[in-house]
Amino acid sequence: MHDGTYTSMADDKSSSDVQHWFTKAVGGIWPVATGSLSLRKGPCIRKNCPSCAAGKGHSSYALYVRRESRRFSIYVPERLVPEVRKAIENGRLLQELINEAGVRYVSALKNEEPSTSRK
Ligand SMILES: [Zn+2]
Repeated sequence: MHDGTYTSMADDKSSSDVQHWFTKAVGGIWPVATGSLSLRKGPCIRKNCPSCAAGKGHSSYALYVRRESRRFSIYVPERLVPEVRKAIENGRLLQELINEAGVRYVSALKNEEPSTSRK
């Protein structure tokens, strides 16, 4: 189990060190999601629903996700809200790990001997 904290100034000898670290770090992260969880209001499908007739409608949770600049949402039953929140939290952690991996990867690459000699 990992607790989600990693030292950011690691001493990587090569880019494969970074790969091993990253693979291990992300291996335990599940479930993951990106986007935002919010309440939305809408009518239901029942006929003669007093709540809808009164214009109050019903509130339900939805996960809003952006994909290729298009936004869409998926209905989230209330009982699953804690799990979806956890997935979003993990998604942020994963994003942070990717950020850190990029920095460490680049600095490790720079430390490596060039495979082809440049003049
Ligand atoms: Zn209704």
